Amino acid sequence: MAIDPVCKMTVNEEKAAAKADYKGKTYYFCAKGCKEKFEKEPEKYIRR
Ligand SMILES: [Zn+2]
Repeated sequence: MAIDPVCKMTVNEEKAAAKADYKGKTYYFCAKGCKEKFEKEPEKYIRR
């Protein structure tokens, strides 16, 4: 399972609604809306 970096939900990689590659890493999202938020400000979401 992967963690949706936007809403922190766990996402099954095979069933993810959307995914994005950023700086060599693949991120999975529960919904297309989360991917859109991520792509606007990826740094905001990958910084922990
Ligand atoms: Zn999400």
